[in-house]
Parts: sequence; C-alpha cells; structure tokens
Amino acid sequence: MDHERQSTASFDSAADLLKSDLRGDLVRIRDADYEDARRIYNAMIDRRPEVIVRCAGVGDVIDAIKFGRAHGLPISVRGGGHNVTGNALADRGLTIDLSLMKGLRIDPRLRIVRAEAGLTWLEVNHDLQHFGLAAAGGFVGTTGVAGLTLGGGLGWLVRKHGLACDNLVSADIVTADGRFLQASKEDNPDLFWAIRGGGGNFGIVTSFEFEVHPAGTVLAGLVIHPASRAREAMKFWRDFETTAPRELTTGALLFTAPPAPFVPEDAQGTPVVGIGGVFTGDLEVGEKVLRPLRDWGSPVADIIEPMPYSAAQTMADALWPHNFQNYWKSDFLNGLPDDAIDTMVAKFSSVPSVMTTVVIEHNGDGAMNDVRRGDTAFWHRDSSYNLLVTSMWEDRRNAEENISWTKDFVEATARFASGGVYVNYLGEEGSDRIRSAFGSNFDRLTAVKQKYDPENVFRLNQNIEPAD
Ligand SMILES: Cc1cc2nc3c(=O)[nH]c(=O)nc-3n(C[C@H](O)[C@H](O)[C@H](O)COP(=O)(O)OP(=O)(O)OC[C@H]3O[C@@H](n4cnc5c(N)ncnc54)[C@H](O)[C@@H]3O)c2cc1C
Repeated sequence: MDHERQSTASFDSAADLLKSDLRGDLVRIRDADYEDARRIYNAMIDRRPEVIVRCAGVGDVIDAIKFGRAHGLPISVRGGGHNVTGNALADRGLTIDLSLMKGLRIDPRLRIVRAEAGLTWLEVNHDLQHFGLAAAGGFVGTTGVAGLTLGGGLGWLVRKHGLACDNLVSADIVTADGRFLQASKEDNPDLFWAIRGGGGNFGIVTSFEFEVHPAGTVLAGLVIHPASRAREAMKFWRDFETTAPRELTTGALLFTAPPAPFVPEDAQGTPVVGIGGVFTGDLEVGEKVLRPLRDWGSPVADIIEPMPYSAAQTMADALWPHNFQNYWKSDFLNGLPDDAIDTMVAKFSSVPSVMTTVVIEHNGDGAMNDVRRGDTAFWHRDSSYNLLVTSMWEDRRNAEENISWTKDFVEATARFASGGVYVNYLGEEGSDRIRSAFGSNFDRLTAVKQKYDPENVFRLNQNIEPAD
C-alpha cells in the first residue's frame, strides 16, 4: 500500500470509529444522505465537507472537535444553516452540524428558556406561545437561534426587549481544546461578553439560556403601497417612527408584490413598498398607535391584524424561501434623509429579479440603546437604521447581473452609511469590513480569542484572529 492509500485507510477507520461512538451520525461524501446533509439556505454555496458530524449532544460536539483537530481538518459549525456566506460548510473539511440538537426547556414561572443550538426561532416561539411568552429572535422564523444570537440578533422585539444577545442569560460552550465551559455574567464573563455579538469565533455553543417576555397576541402585518407612492410612503413611515413607542418595531420593504390573495390582481408582479411591523402590548393601544400608518395614502393592501406572536415570527418567511441563489449586502445607516429614500426607490426600479427584497430596518431608539456599546461585543447600537439588500434569484446563470445590481445599489447609498456593518449580514468582504462590524470592541475581541482559541481553530466565520 502506498503512503496516500495507507493514510486514506487510517482516516476511514478513524471516521468509522467516531461514527460508532456518536449518539448522532456521521455523513461522508459516499453516503446517500450526503447531499441533504450539506444543504443550507443559500443554494449558491457549493462546498463539499469531507465529513459532516450530525451531533445529538455535547459529547458528540467534543468528539467531533477532537477528531477534526487530530486530522488537521478545517472545522465549520452549522446551526440553522442560514448564513448567506455559507460558512456553515467546511470545504474538504469537517462540518459540525448542530441541527439535530433541538432540546427546549421552558420555565414559565421564571420566564426563562433553555434552547439547544439546532433550534430555529420558529420552533422556540412556537412552544413559547403556549405560555403567552416570546423570545426576542429575528424577523423570520427559519433562521437559527445560534448564529443569529452570537452575532447580536435583530428582530421584531428589538425596540421593546433589545437584541437576542441582550436577552442571553448564559450559554454552554465547548472550546477549541474540547473543554466544556459555562458563560454568564458570573462564569467566564469575558467569554460571555464576546459571544454576545462576536459571532462563532470563541467556541461551539451547545445551548443558550434566554430571558423571555409576555407577548401572547400581538398586532402585526404589512401595509402595501404601489412603487409610485414609495417615496412619500417611506418618508411618512420615517417621521411616524420618530414618535412610535418601543412596543412597535417596524421596517420598510421594497419588493415585487407576490401573487397572494391579499394583493389585488392588478398590483401582483409590480414593485411595491411595504411597511411591516409588530406591536406587542395592549391591543387597543396598538390599534391607536398604528392607525396613522394604516390611514395614510391609499394602500393596495392592509394586512395588519391581531395574531399570536408565533405567527408574527413567521409572517415574513415567504419572502425568503430556501434553495435559491442569494447575494446580500448591508450597511448600518446614520439616519434616513429624504435623499437616501429617493436613492433607494430609484435604484430599486431597475431590480433584475422579482425575488429580491430591500429591507430598511428601524431597530434603534429603543431597548438596544439601554445597553452601553462596550457592555457586549455588539457595537453598533447607535445606528438606528440598517439597510439590507437581499438579492435572490432562481437560475445560477443570472448571478452576474444580480450581483452587480446589488453592488451598484450599496454604492449609490454608501454616502448615507455609518461605516459599520452587522456581522450577521456581512458577506465575504475582507478584513477591514470585519473590523468595521465590531467597531471599537475589536481589540478586546482579539484578546478573548487569544485566550479561548489561540490557534484559530474556529476560523470559518467572520474571523477575528487571536491577538499577537
Ligand atoms: C432568510 C434570512 C433571514 C434572516 N433574518 C435575520 C433577522 O431577522 N435578524 C438577524 O439578526 N439576522 C437575520 N439573518 C442573518 C442571520 O442572523 C445569520 O445568517 C446567522 O448567521 C444565521 O444563523 P444560523 O445558525 O441559521 O446560521 P449558520 O449558517 O448555521 O451559522 C452561521 C455561523 O454562525 C456560527 N455558529 C452557528 N452556530 C454556532 C454555534 N452553536 N456555536 C458557535 N458558532 C456557531 C458559525 O460561525 C457559522 O458559520 C437572516 C438570514 C437569512 C438567510
């Protein structure tokens, strides 16, 4: 046997041995379920891990890390598989897949939930709904709890209850050397600080403990106006937002009206602006708060209505279906002057794909500003608005046209950008952009990285290199 065949044979037998030790599963290229196991949200990503360990618990995570390091494999971590960069998959490496880990324990009395790292927000809020409670997750239901929380976590409850990471009470983590640690304000506080906004750089979080909040029935939905009124509608929304209470979180969407029953036939397939929001609190108060937004202009559709919070959590999911080509760009904005709105609306008129949505989130002027910027790794608390261009299309061959349109869009709006970017919306954009995701917290993050992952084992992410 030559050297290469010999080492392949020993790798194979080590992988077989690991597989037999796992409570979960191990999938290799030759296995029938390999293609399913490597599928993530963004169909544009075509990375082929050598080994995918589908963990069932903490023990599997520890074994997988040891295996990956022993064989010199690049290691990636998959939570919900939603990151558009595709960092969940390690090309020719080891993917540690947590998506089978869906344990959830709710303590309704203390309003605390412990969620394993494979859960999505839809799953967490589905169960919490039975107790009239909700977790501050994202704007859609299908995103993973893990990646979203580690990068900060913007969602429908951000103005009332802050970022997902602001609601984190503690986390269980396996570090690069296979140690199991707990992180909270009391235990390993430096690590706890870093995982609230620093991304997946510091270890593999196996479960998260969150504070959750009364929600029950909320007032939620969307008011849609034709593109011809988009400028005025967005300016009205921006001004309306300046006096909106924290109970209300809203965003504006430029998109193409879907063939949905709630959209009149003549508006279907045309560009529109939607103002979407969730009001959590007394419904009568909510009706009054939202009235001016619903009365403005002549909307083509008004689908704001009372619904369980778990339904609000999933109401936008249809705009971002799985298995399509995705290319995203994002910037925090300093504000939303008229000129910025005019530029966005003008640029959207040439959008090449009917699946593309431009989102302007209003996250600020609320609970996320109650936490100081240095208190967690999430820095950009002062940026009230976030621009997110989610280009999506079906045919791989249309990549160039969609990517160049997306780049043009953010180039045109760059003068309104704060210079910061949200790590969870960041693409493969180089080390300067990674720095700008962490602002003045960056140096402190490199020191924490040096302490917990000095060899940069966890580098398939928006990578923070260990301090020298
Ligand atoms: C359709 C869609 C909607 C979105 N909506 C929102 C939104 O409303 N609000 C928002 O804030 N963001 C949103 N995002 C962005 C989202 O937060 C990021 O893509 C996030 O990384 C997704 O987490 P995940 O676990 O699903 O992804 P994955 O791709 O599985 O993981 C992303 C990265 O996170 C790290 N990671 C994941 N799990 C762990 C773990 N357990 N331990 C350590 N590191 C880990 C790894 O570095 C991994 O590469 C959205 C993305 C999509 C595609």
